[in-house]
Amino acid sequence: MRQQPKPVPEAYAESLESSEQRRAFRRRVFQWFDKHQRELPWRQTDDPYCVWVSEIMLQQTQVVTVIPYFEKFLKRFPDVYALAAADEATVLRYWEGLGYYRRARQMHRAAQVVVEEHQGILPRQSQTLQALPGIGRYTAGAILSIAHDQREPILEANTIRLLARLIALDEPTTTAASQATLWDVAEELLPRKRVGAFNQGLMELGSLVCTPRNPECTDCPVARHCRTFGEGLQEAIPVPKKKTQYEAIDEAAVAIWHAGRVLVRQCGPDERWAGLWDFPRFPVTDVGGAKRRREVIRQTQDMTGVELAQLRQLSVLKHAVTRYRISLTCYDAQATTGPAGGSSANQQWLTVQELENIPLSVTGRKMAGLLAGVDDKA
Ligand code: SF4
Repeated sequence: MRQQPKPVPEAYAESLESSEQRRAFRRRVFQWFDKHQRELPWRQTDDPYCVWVSEIMLQQTQVVTVIPYFEKFLKRFPDVYALAAADEATVLRYWEGLGYYRRARQMHRAAQVVVEEHQGILPRQSQTLQALPGIGRYTAGAILSIAHDQREPILEANTIRLLARLIALDEPTTTAASQATLWDVAEELLPRKRVGAFNQGLMELGSLVCTPRNPECTDCPVARHCRTFGEGLQEAIPVPKKKTQYEAIDEAAVAIWHAGRVLVRQCGPDERWAGLWDFPRFPVTDVGGAKRRREVIRQTQDMTGVELAQLRQLSVLKHAVTRYRISLTCYDAQATTGPAGGSSANQQWLTVQELENIPLSVTGRKMAGLLAGVDDKA
């Protein structure tokens, strides 16, 4: 039986309603992309594994930041077998500084599933791909369209903004209804061929032309299809979502010295940096003075089993994680019970140089940098 054509989503800009208009839109995207696309390392290949690594790294991370990580990662883990065979600490070491470490842990687990259950080949069905850890509809669509030219839509930050403006979406893009509309539009716009190039063209257009602030509408190849441009609503669309309420957190981290080594502990599965190593760290309730010092010493001892003395403040690091604004006071101190106090499976004593070889949280790495200029007081 012949399939009925899908109805055009109501949200369509008038200038995208007909199939002729959509063909013209695709043609303009292709022409622009062929001429203006940036040379990026992951665009030199259509290997699904490379596409996968790049797409995971690019989630919530800028292209310029990702490039050196992508190159180093592929050198060390050139295929899914190399990634699956590595231990998690090594994978995290190559991810260190990119943030959102869950992405690396999930990709590592997914590589093991691909080797064990799919003969080392990334599945070519979207649903099967999406059953792997860390792969959602967007990543599956990117892998399948870019590596295999399959007719799968994508929706990520740049295309969400671009499509929302094309159709002048009048509600925040994060609502379930908006997401459903945008997926429909992304699907309906897809060409029959060169789907990967088209999807990348939309992302590139969103990234370089349809920017969050001051989009370059006069240079935009699809301006004549854009309802937001037609109505002069560039500053109002995408409609902002409700403001995030930030929460301030006061934390302390302590480098405990013993005989030229410091104690580090591996974060447990429920902790913020699961799998990474860190200095003993915890929230502090007392604001200042002797009471705060006593609290820091007590919490450090409870956490590590090491008795300490000579606590001194090194620095205060400010950083943000999701909705938290964290003020981290870094201390060092001297172990008075010797190394035996700190011995357990998830703790080890290392020299400052040896800290280079383990994956640390970003602030853990900054604190390690502070220690390089500090002498063990023993
Ligand atoms: S015309 Fe402007 S707002 Fe519309 S898609 Fe192009 S850059 Fe974005």
